Amino acid sequence: MSVDANYTLPGNIFQTIFEKSPGSILVKADLPRFTILAVSDSYLKVTSTTREAILGKGFFEVFPDDEPQLIDEKAARHVFTKVINTGKTIDVPSYRYDVYNADTQSQELHHWSCSNVPVLGDDGRIAYILNTIADITEEVKAKESAIESASRLRLATEVTGLATWDMDLQHHGTFYYSPRMVEIFGQPPGTVLTVGSMRSQMSADDMQNIVRKSFKEALITGEHLYEIKIVWPDESVHWIKTQGTIIFDKNKRAVRMLGTVLDITESKRDEIRKNDFIAMASHELKTPLTSLKSYIQLLAKKLSKTDDDFVSNALTKAENQVNKMSDLIYGFLDLSQLESGKLSAKLQPFDIIKLINETIADINLSNNSHTIIFNSTGPIKVNADRERIGQVISNFLGNAIKYSPKESPIIVTCKVTGDSVQVAVTDYGIGIKQRDQEKLFQRFYRVENERAKNISGFGIGLYLASEIIQRHKGNIWVESQEGSGSTFYFSLPITVDS
Ligand code: ADP
Repeated sequence: MSVDANYTLPGNIFQTIFEKSPGSILVKADLPRFTILAVSDSYLKVTSTTREAILGKGFFEVFPDDEPQLIDEKAARHVFTKVINTGKTIDVPSYRYDVYNADTQSQELHHWSCSNVPVLGDDGRIAYILNTIADITEEVKAKESAIESASRLRLATEVTGLATWDMDLQHHGTFYYSPRMVEIFGQPPGTVLTVGSMRSQMSADDMQNIVRKSFKEALITGEHLYEIKIVWPDESVHWIKTQGTIIFDKNKRAVRMLGTVLDITESKRDEIRKNDFIAMASHELKTPLTSLKSYIQLLAKKLSKTDDDFVSNALTKAENQVNKMSDLIYGFLDLSQLESGKLSAKLQPFDIIKLINETIADINLSNNSHTIIFNSTGPIKVNADRERIGQVISNFLGNAIKYSPKESPIIVTCKVTGDSVQVAVTDYGIGIKQRDQEKLFQRFYRVENERAKNISGFGIGLYLASEIIQRHKGNIWVESQEGSGSTFYFSLPITVDS
């Protein structure tokens, strides 16, 4: 389609288009007056003026220096003059001009950008300047608040010593981090870190068991949190805690991963010292206790034929108390082994039914308050650490006795479901509130309960049980109702790889 060069729109149409255009004012290039020739409705609204009041007047007569105005006069004059001298469009990307709001009867802060376009007259010289303004208040405010929150975040991270990082999972290699990260990794200032360089400061085992495992879980849950050891260039060992989140796109693909890193070396060293102390103390306590136990057993043997009921009762009680104490001490020893990563599972095939029967018989030696019911089936073979699994069953039974009234029964079941074996211990005791159930398997967690406040314990039995079962790739859980009783379960795969 060709354009008819002679085709022109009537002048009044142009005038209407101009007047309805967003934020425009046309001034004559009659420097220094800059007579206003046309103005749009929206420009009038912003400047709280009327067409009659400003048309034909000089631009700086209407918007003098001493009133809130569109542009600083000197700057505006300078810009208008420059447009005439250079013949080029001059943009002013951002300036402030407050607008009077008739509703609130107050000046409102606004930000604007403007463009000044030279318009040629018939003689080919610049005859007019078209000044067009746009309200950019929202963008400016958004930018300011982004800057403010970024600096607030920076301040918060600096004060807490946190490093932040952000990794693009789609475009491999794009990895941003705050300068604190370099310090946390013990590298000289200015060192460029990469994901690879940071991983090279971790052990291969930790990479496999902690980092990769946590990443796999994070791809499902969206969150990750772990503590890991790193080795600095000077070979000193440090600990970090990293915490973060994964961002998925609408197709549920992981696109970004970001989070924080904190140096926890000091508290970790404290924890290690505390752990070493527990290990040492329990080890030292074990020796005299073992000899005390042997003396009690020896005495019991010697006096087995005595008619003195008091003596034989006292010896049985003494032995029970020594056994209790040695359980506690072994619990602490296990805990310290677990914390230092030394609690391992020695797998061997055995019949779990036989183990349950033996454990019940063992418990019954000192239990004369509860009836433990177990309808044993034929043998069920598992490949697991016999002693450790016995410890878990013993913990379930011990708790069932501790947290249920005398004379109430305790029921043990063991069955095969799919390719795992499931053991359950049910009691009709005090039960556990829903909100406590999730926390029972945490270290040192004990439920605050009026009915259990005189029952002794350290809250490590279930923690150990859960760690043991995890090492066998099994599951451990509880179903309970406060006031009615609880059932503790664990399941083990029937064939467990080493
Ligand atoms: P401990 O019994 O030595 O405190 P555990 O780790 O074995 O430590 O148990 C943790 C907590 O779980 C207990 O303190 C108790 O509050 C709760 N608990 C465990 N077993 C039962 C149960 N059978 N009935 C009610 N509460 C239980």
